[in-house]
Amino acid sequence: MPSDPRAAVEAYAEPPHEWHLVPGHGVQPTPRRDRYAPRAFDALAAVLDLHQPGSHGVCDECGYQGVNEHPVDWPCPTVQAITTALEGKA
Ligand SMILES: [Zn+2]
Repeated sequence: MPSDPRAAVEAYAEPPHEWHLVPGHGVQPTPRRDRYAPRAFDALAAVLDLHQPGSHGVCDECGYQGVNEHPVDWPCPTVQAITTALEGKA
């Protein structure tokens, strides 16, 4: 898994050697994003674009939460949930 979660989504969406028979066009390289739910890949990328590492290692989107405003370190639970699923551990 790349250390950049956004790159991990892109790598999963477009593996370098995935070939499929495309009717009328023979066997063609076919990214997953073109075969399965392309908007779902866009949605994951949009979430990861929001949850970026900010100053002092705090997630830009999550920021500070709770009664005592504890910082939410990056990778936050949202990013961890996505990367864990991409690794097939979810
Ligand atoms: Zn976050």
